[in-house]
Amino acid sequence: ASLRSRLTSGPWKRPAAPVPSAAPSRPRFWEGQDVLARWTDGLLYLGTIKKVDASRQVCLVQFEDNSQFLVLWKDINPAAVPGEEQICCVCYSESVSPENQLVRCEKCGHTYHQECHLPRVLDASSDGAGVLGAWMCRQCVFAVATKRGGALKKGPYAKAMLSMKLVLPYQFKALEWDPAHLTNRQQCYCYCGGPGEWNLKMLQCCSCAQWFHEACTQCLSKPLLYGDRFYVFECCVCTGGPESVRRLPLRWVDVAHLILYHLSICCKKKYFDFEREILPFASENWDNLLLGELSDTPKRDRYSQLLSALSSHKDRFISGKEIKKRKGLFGLHIRVPPPAPQCPGGHGGSTAQQPQGQPPLTDSR
Ligand SMILES: [Zn+2]
Ligand SMILES: [Zn+2]
Ligand SMILES: [Zn+2]
Ligand SMILES: [Zn+2]
Repeated sequence: ASLRSRLTSGPWKRPAAPVPSAAPSRPRFWEGQDVLARWTDGLLYLGTIKKVDASRQVCLVQFEDNSQFLVLWKDINPAAVPGEEQICCVCYSESVSPENQLVRCEKCGHTYHQECHLPRVLDASSDGAGVLGAWMCRQCVFAVATKRGGALKKGPYAKAMLSMKLVLPYQFKALEWDPAHLTNRQQCYCYCGGPGEWNLKMLQCCSCAQWFHEACTQCLSKPLLYGDRFYVFECCVCTGGPESVRRLPLRWVDVAHLILYHLSICCKKKYFDFEREILPFASENWDNLLLGELSDTPKRDRYSQLLSALSSHKDRFISGKEIKKRKGLFGLHIRVPPPAPQCPGGHGGSTAQQPQGQPPLTDSR
C-alpha cells in the first residue's frame, strides 16, 4: 500500500492542437521527478524519473525496489505543480465558459476543464461533486479503487469507479492489434488505458474483445489465476453498466493445464512434482479455482483425476519419466495457457475471431 500512498493525476488526452501560448511553462516530465507509473497489472507504483526521451515519449523510471523500466508517457502521472491550479492539465488552457468550467481534484490538486475530463464532469459545484462529497478525478478514483484480486465493489469509490468505467479514456477504434487480438501497438488496455499482458491476470470482453486488468474489474468473486480464460466477461462499456461475468466449466485436463501454467509463471521453472507441488497447490486453491461440478470431488479422487489427466494428455504435458528425470514430475510442452473455450455468450463482433494466438500444443520446438 505504501507504493500507492501518494495519489497524483495526469492528463488523459493529448491536446489536439496545443496552443503555444497556453503551453506549460515547465516540461511535463524531468529527471528526478517523483511520479506514479502504471504497471502491466493496472496498479500505480511510486517511482522517480531517471531519463526523459521525448522522441519515443518514454521515461526511464526507477521504482522503490531500485528496478528501472521504460514507461510510456501515457502511463506516467506527474504530481500537480504548485501554481498550475488555474490551468487545465489536459489542454493547458485557462479559458472557461459557463458550460466548461475548471474543476480541481480534491485529492491530487490537478485541474481539469469539465469537457477535458473523461467522462465529462457534470457539475462540480453541486451534486456533480458526486458520491464522494468532493470531486475526484478519474486517476485518483482508480488509484483508490483498484486492488490486486479485483477492485472495490462497494462504497462510494466503487460507485465512482463504475461511472468512470462507462467511458474509455482513449480512442478504442484507433488501437492496432496483432492478428490474434492479444496485444496492441499502443500498449493500451482496459478502462485505465494502461499497459498489460493478456495472459497475466486479464479478462477479455466477449463483445469488444478488449483486455481488462483483474485489478480494474469489480465482478470477480475469486482472484484470477495466470492464464485463466474460463470466463465469459463483458465490460462496463459494452453492458452500459456493471460488468457481467460467468465461469465456464473446466475439465480435469484444463485444471491440470491451468495449475501447471500458473505455477510455471509464478515459479519460473518448467517441471513440478505432482505430490509435493501440483496436488498441494490444487488443494490450497480448490475454492479459488471455481470448478463448478468438479468442486465436490473428494480429495482422493482429485489425486487420481489430476494424475490421469497429466499422464494421458501427452500432447500438452511432458512427464519427468519421458526426459529421464524423476517420475512424478510434470511440465507443459510449451508454456501457454489452456486454450480458450468457445465463448457461448458472445454476440458477434470480434468474438468471431476468438484469439488464435497460442501456438499449437505440440512438441514442435
Ligand atoms: Zn486497468
Ligand atoms: Zn482543458
Ligand atoms: Zn486527482
Ligand atoms: Zn467490452
